[in-house]
Amino acid sequence: MTVRPYPKIELHVHLEATIRPARLLEIARRNDLRLPVRTAEGLERTFRFRSFRQFVRLWIATTSVLRRRRDFHQVVVDYAGELADQGCLYAEPLFSPSEPVSRGVTWQEVFEGYCDGAAEARERHGVELRFTPDVTRDFPSEIGEQVAAWAVRYRDRGVVGLSLGGSEHRFPPGPFRRAFAIAREGGLRAAPHAGEMAGPASIRGALDDLGAQRLRHGVRAVEDAALLEELAERGVVCDVTPVSNLRTGVVRSLDEHPLPALLQAGVRCSIGSDDPVLMRTSLTADSDVAVRLGHTPRAMYEHALAGAFCDGRTRARLAAAGAAFDWDAALSVP
Ligand SMILES: [Zn+2]
Repeated sequence: MTVRPYPKIELHVHLEATIRPARLLEIARRNDLRLPVRTAEGLERTFRFRSFRQFVRLWIATTSVLRRRRDFHQVVVDYAGELADQGCLYAEPLFSPSEPVSRGVTWQEVFEGYCDGAAEARERHGVELRFTPDVTRDFPSEIGEQVAAWAVRYRDRGVVGLSLGGSEHRFPPGPFRRAFAIAREGGLRAAPHAGEMAGPASIRGALDDLGAQRLRHGVRAVEDAALLEELAERGVVCDVTPVSNLRTGVVRSLDEHPLPALLQAGVRCSIGSDDPVLMRTSLTADSDVAVRLGHTPRAMYEHALAGAFCDGRTRARLAAAGAAFDWDAALSVP
């Protein structure tokens, strides 16, 4: 008997980390680029990294093959197919334009590729996608301001917010204040990374300096009781990614993951896969972990919907899909 997956919403996934090895090799060949490893099996083995630093190296090696509009387009459509198979109805993926642009790719090529991909993903797979491009902290803040300006230009093509990513422990949010102001004035919302590789001060900065309405991660808020309470009171949704936190060493084991403490404090948590291929996980696998840690499929869906940056019509449609689903039956599936 095949079990229909319960409805899901994915708010924290990096498109560059969703590319399957065979596709990555195909894109590299098409662009006349060489990867350090020539076979899909070899790539699979490389993905078994052991540290955050190794992860970053791997990330740069894989993202550097994406050069053309067609590449970005294909990445979105591929991943939307995987989301549809997992019962995902809506996603707000991230992509990081600073890296391809620094290699000579035009801003238009990156944004057009991803936005065209979202339109095809809707038609082919029935998954609704919106984007929150990622400003990379490791680049100068002026580049971040350009990311913000381009994100605003693509607002009517599905860009709904701005994110901040990269080396959180080395680059605090303050210098990116202007980038987030540009986004806000242009009608975009803010969902930066904070509270993963750095603690409560980074989360505080994301809230105060960047006007964060949602947090990618946010899990280290548990280190500061007052901050935790504030997140709950203000209804700031945290986009939590348990398996990724294990892989990068934020937690030593999944049993020690702070998700139960966040939920206990009344913080709403969506569940995401962050970097499914590089972290060897999936939206389903992360959802399973979250259920083991005390979340429920229905609460995951509702918390994510509360945090989503989509328009009212899409929100109403997603709410109706959630209301129509028999969640009790989903829970009884072994
Ligand atoms: Zn992330």
